[in-house]
Amino acid sequence: MSSPESVASVASVDSVVRVRVPAKVNVQLAVGGRRADGFHGLASVFFAVGLYDEVTAVPSDRLRITVEGADAAHVPTDDSNLAAKAARLLGARHGIEPNVHLHIVKGIPVAGGMAGGSADAAAALVACDALWGTGSSRAELVELAAELGSDVPFSLLGGVALGEGRGELLTPVPVAGTFHWVFAVADGGLSTPAVYGECDRLRELGGGSADSDVPAPAADPVLLAALRSGDVTALGAALSNDLQDAALSLRPGLADTLRAGTDAGAIGALVSGSGPTCAFLAKDAAAARTLAEALESSGSCQAARLAEGPVLGATAVN
Ligand code: ATP
Repeated sequence: MSSPESVASVASVDSVVRVRVPAKVNVQLAVGGRRADGFHGLASVFFAVGLYDEVTAVPSDRLRITVEGADAAHVPTDDSNLAAKAARLLGARHGIEPNVHLHIVKGIPVAGGMAGGSADAAAALVACDALWGTGSSRAELVELAAELGSDVPFSLLGGVALGEGRGELLTPVPVAGTFHWVFAVADGGLSTPAVYGECDRLRELGGGSADSDVPAPAADPVLLAALRSGDVTALGAALSNDLQDAALSLRPGLADTLRAGTDAGAIGALVSGSGPTCAFLAKDAAAARTLAEALESSGSCQAARLAEGPVLGATAVN
C-alpha cells in the first residue's frame, strides 16, 4: 500500500476527478455505555475491504448529486446525502461555492453496516479538494471527516485501524498479508441508530443499565496479534461484534445466513457493523469462491460478494 499522504498529493486542478473508496468491516466492535452526548464509546477495529463506491466530481452551476447502481433508489440525492454535506463543508472551509456535480456509483450495500454513506463523504472530500485545488493536508481532511460522521475518517485512511472515542480517533494497526472475505448482502438495510437502540434495550433487559454498568471498550490483544502475524485461523476465532445480538434481534433470519456460511467452511463469521450484511473469513481465495457459491445457493442472502483486504482508503484514480 502507498502512504495515505499520497492521496491528497494527487490533487491537481482537473475538470474531472474520480475517486474510488472502499467499504469497511469491523473485525472487532466493542460497544461501551451510552455517553452523555448520546453516542456510545467504541473500540472498533476497522478493516477496509475491496468493495467500492466511485465518486466523480465535475464543475456544475449548483451542487448536484446523481446515483447509479442496484441500490441507487435508496440513496438520497438532496442535501442529506453525505457526499453533498462533505462538499458543502469543504467549500465553507475555503470560501468556495460548492458548485459541483457528484456522480456516485454504488458498489457498497446501502444501509448494510459497511459505511457506504461515510465512504462517499470521504470520496467527495478528496474529489472536491482536487477539483477546487484547495490542497488540504491529510490532517485537515481527517478533521473535516470527523465532523461529518464517526466512520468517515477511516474511509479516508483505509487499511486497518483502531477507532476509539465514537470511532473517529484512529490509530493504524499493522497487518501481515491479505485476507479473503465473503459478504452476504441482505434484502433491505438496517438503521444504525435502531441497532444501537436495540443493543441498549437488550442490556437493560439483562438487568443492567445501558450506560454506567457497561465495561469500557478495549481492543482485543489476541485479535491485534492475529492481524499482525497474518494468522487467518486466529483472526477468524477472534472476530467479535457487540452489536450482533441486537442486529439478530431485529432481523432473526441473519442467524440462518451466519449458519450457512459457517457450515460451508468459513473460518470466522459475524454481522458487519450494525448489519444486516454478514461477513465471512475464508482460508484463501479458492475457499472464498466455494463459500460464496454455497451462500448464494443456500437462499439465506440476496447475493454473496468476494472481497480482499486490507485496501487503501479514498484514492483518486484519474
Ligand atoms: P454505517 O456502517 O456507517 O453505520 P451503513 O453502511 O449501515 O452505515 P449507509 O449505506 O451509510 O449505512 O446508509 C445509511 C443511510 O444513510 C441510508 O439509508 C441513506 O438514507 C443515507 N445516506 C446518505 N448519504 C448516503 C450515501 N452517499 N450513500 C448511501 N446512503 C446514504
